[in-house]
Amino acid sequence: MSPAHGHLPLDQLGFKKCVAMVYICLLQAQQTVPKPITTKRQKVAVDVRLSRVGHHLESMPKQRRCSHCRKKANLFCKACNVPLHRKCSAEFH
Ligand SMILES: [Zn+2]
Ligand SMILES: [Zn+2]
Repeated sequence: MSPAHGHLPLDQLGFKKCVAMVYICLLQAQQTVPKPITTKRQKVAVDVRLSRVGHHLESMPKQRRCSHCRKKANLFCKACNVPLHRKCSAEFH
């Protein structure tokens, strides 16, 4: 009733290989999954964005990337709740 010690290292190796393969497969699967096209500009509901109500730019304590031109801005639109520059606001809305 002695266990077959001789096979253990191979089994472990096989197991590790298997794990590695699964891991690689997972990684590859993740890489090949088509990323949803980033529609960050459209994350604001269009009807909110294009409504002419309540789009006041307010200053933020911290700079964030402008939702329109992606540069640092320290203003944000209260209605859309996105960072914006004053000059970008007109184009964004
Ligand atoms: Zn901007
Ligand atoms: Zn707005």
